[in-house]
Amino acid sequence: MASAPPLETAGPGGYPQPPPYEEPMMNPHPQYPQGPMPPPYSYAKVPQCPYPVQSQSPPVTGPVVSVQTIYVQPGVVYGDRPVQAHCPVCAQFVVTRMDYSAGMLAWLSCVALSFFGCIYGCCLIPFCVDGLKDVKHTCPNCNNILGIYKRL
Ligand SMILES: [Zn+2]
Repeated sequence: MASAPPLETAGPGGYPQPPPYEEPMMNPHPQYPQGPMPPPYSYAKVPQCPYPVQSQSPPVTGPVVSVQTIYVQPGVVYGDRPVQAHCPVCAQFVVTRMDYSAGMLAWLSCVALSFFGCIYGCCLIPFCVDGLKDVKHTCPNCNNILGIYKRL
């Protein structure tokens, strides 16, 4: 009698061998990373701070410049010619009157002439030449001194 050999495939209480779980280990996408594991996405490595840290307060544009209104007569240059200026005393625009006075240049010219031998009255010539004197600009109305032009 040939009895069928008992199949030993699955005996009583014999559990089929579970397939080896290697697929989860080979899984490139771990669902739940455990612990401080480095992220598997190397391309997603974000640099710490690609931009320079900016200060919280915006840069100050600059100190506040307080504009002071200083009334300066524009273009009034006191030279050796009468100029039109505004007299603050009589509050009028006048043409200055020139008064010549011996200034530094006249005295230096006198000393220079004396040094070269012109001691007999010739050294006084600079005091007679208006081109060597200082010019004092005065107001023709109130004789207020508006400016002095010094040659030295
Ligand atoms: Zn005046």
